[in-house]
Amino acid sequence: MESTEGDHSDRLRGVRYDLALDNQLGQYADIEEYRKISIDLGWRLSDSSQQLTRTVTGYLVAPPPTVYGGGEAELEATVLDDIVRLRDEKCDGRVPVFDNWLVTDVFHWVLDRCGIPRSDQSLEDTGQRLSMGEPEEPLWAVEAGRSWLEFLEEVAQYDYEAAIFFDEQGNFVKACPHCRQYRTAENVTQHDGTPDGACDSTVSWYLYTRASAAPDPTGPGEILAVRKPRLSLSARDYVNYVAVCGVGEDGRPIRSVVYDPASLYDPSSDQFVGWRKMEVQALPNYTTQAEVNRLAQEVFSKRSRRPEFIHLLTPLEPRMRIGQVLVVRGAEQVSATDQAYRIVALHHTARREQHRLAVTSIKARWLGTG
Ligand SMILES: [Zn+2]
Repeated sequence: MESTEGDHSDRLRGVRYDLALDNQLGQYADIEEYRKISIDLGWRLSDSSQQLTRTVTGYLVAPPPTVYGGGEAELEATVLDDIVRLRDEKCDGRVPVFDNWLVTDVFHWVLDRCGIPRSDQSLEDTGQRLSMGEPEEPLWAVEAGRSWLEFLEEVAQYDYEAAIFFDEQGNFVKACPHCRQYRTAENVTQHDGTPDGACDSTVSWYLYTRASAAPDPTGPGEILAVRKPRLSLSARDYVNYVAVCGVGEDGRPIRSVVYDPASLYDPSSDQFVGWRKMEVQALPNYTTQAEVNRLAQEVFSKRSRRPEFIHLLTPLEPRMRIGQVLVVRGAEQVSATDQAYRIVALHHTARREQHRLAVTSIKARWLGTG
């Protein structure tokens, strides 16, 4: 491989890798699109042993190879994980009504239909059931032509805002949106992303800006660059007012509102914004006051904490995963020292030319003092 860029983003729905392969000898001339491939990244050590870690399994989407003058030839290709498959697979009308089904059973049914074997389905079970409509007017009937990904995302949101993604081995996972561990009926409401809740907050990485700040100066984790943007209150990351609207059994609207009074009305509070940054969701599938209350509470607790992110650049570390917790040592200039952050996005870059650059850039959300 000549170079690769891998994006495990918090914006894309799936994982994407862009590759450039050396095709000088035509060794990839016959490579076929939609072939299943995996990518392992790592370092070749001085004793010429290799340490490789799988970072993605997916499908090759390849444009035609480019041939440059002088016989140099590079094949550029993109690898997308299996999310692309669930977007292409659509409901064709042969489908049961899912009202009152266990969420886990809904997921198994849809994934089976999409040809994903049970051995590749790793689902948490929170015990949650879908809501129940009238026989003439079901709430969870999937209209023909709708993509299965879109439907599963709606069901996942109903199931305590679950995250759905494909892991590096190509398994479909449904889990906690913060720590990406499996939640249970007993602890699902305590998985709130904070260090005091049920989320896994074990520190996986200690990263340092200088050797004297490192717990183990010979270990990995050197920070090449650190950037802490000003607190952003863009509505994508932060809201102080949440409204969820459903439709009651008698057809009348039901509504739940949660807001932060300090942020709206108290200029002396450090939470103060002064106007409503709103999230409004209208969901006809939500039919009881308890359901709309619960969702409004969940969305509020997830998005009303002021977001504080840090961006770190380290030598390539393919073992890092979204959801893991890291602690920063050093970096006093941006007052990040001894602070804990949860990884929300990763980007790996490796290039053979340009001084053999191989780095991982990390976006992480502040968690507390570590
Ligand atoms: Zn969690």
